[in-house]
Amino acid sequence: MRRRAGSVRSGAVIDLHCHSTCSDGTDSPATIARLAADAGLSGIALTDHDTLEGFDEFAAGCAARGVRAVRGAEISCLDEGRSTHVLCYFVSDDPSSALCTLLATLHGDRDRRNELLVARLHELGYDRVTLDEVRREAGGTEEGSLGRPHFASAIDRLYPGRFESRQAIFDGLLGTGGGAYIQKARVSVAEASAAAAADGAVTVLAHPLITVLSSLPDDQRTLDVVEARIAPLLSRLADDGLVGVECWYPRHGEAETELLRRLASESGLVATGGSDYHGANKPGLSVGTGTGSLRVPDDVLDALEARRP
Ligand code: AMP
Ligand code: ZN
Ligand code: FE
Ligand code: FE
Repeated sequence: MRRRAGSVRSGAVIDLHCHSTCSDGTDSPATIARLAADAGLSGIALTDHDTLEGFDEFAAGCAARGVRAVRGAEISCLDEGRSTHVLCYFVSDDPSSALCTLLATLHGDRDRRNELLVARLHELGYDRVTLDEVRREAGGTEEGSLGRPHFASAIDRLYPGRFESRQAIFDGLLGTGGGAYIQKARVSVAEASAAAAADGAVTVLAHPLITVLSSLPDDQRTLDVVEARIAPLLSRLADDGLVGVECWYPRHGEAETELLRRLASESGLVATGGSDYHGANKPGLSVGTGTGSLRVPDDVLDALEARRP
């Protein structure tokens, strides 16, 4: 058989996890569409937290460049007491669907949480932090999802030198153990998946290793530990209606990605992936390639599509 040296085709790649200025990213949806085309992607999903607001602008930018745009969102679910991010894809534009209603509820609760967070910060003496100041970090618009990263930027700007780093602001104030932590309303993965299924959409577990193993020191994050912790989680969530799991992700090592793909397959889940691009809010990541080596094959999108109810 003849070898076709040099003719090995590197197939098309996609990115199924990106945030814009409509939540806590720093690039507009149109800019992300341009970055997707520049990276040579054949498809890309916009997955802002709790909102679909940026999609029309995003889809127009993608259509102009021949890139397939997927309408998505990232929902913060609660699973066994742990904040667990679930991505949904192929969300319809029906505002009365169960999924859109759920997103609207979560978005409204975010507004409530943000108001309580401002009040709590005032109690702690950070009275320069107002919703207007936080909105300035999100481009000053009334719309979009304001998140804790915007609060961190506002605190950093209004109290220069008070904290050593953004991480210190999370550790001291905004993170789960911080003095100003306010819990958002949470749905279960089963509830999110049921709402998605009723809308013809699918749910995917985002960055499982960050969710499950974040408290584990790096040298204890062995493949055996990953398998022991992730395998039961995936089979349980698959029973709850989950369709896929993010295997290709910037902070997953190559062997971890391979292991997750095997575990996905064993639980009947689609292996997916994305960069979790946030612009300047998560420095060092690019659309499509993540930290440089991410390559999510485009047949992932076909596999997800095939699992739509
Ligand atoms: P929110 O959805 O407004 O609660 O904000 C969630 C976002 O805040 C996450 O996507 C992270 O980017 C960031 N975040 C949450 N907790 C931490 C933490 N402990 N350290 C650093 N960033 C965090
Ligand atoms: Zn985010
Ligand atoms: Fe996330
Ligand atoms: Fe994300």
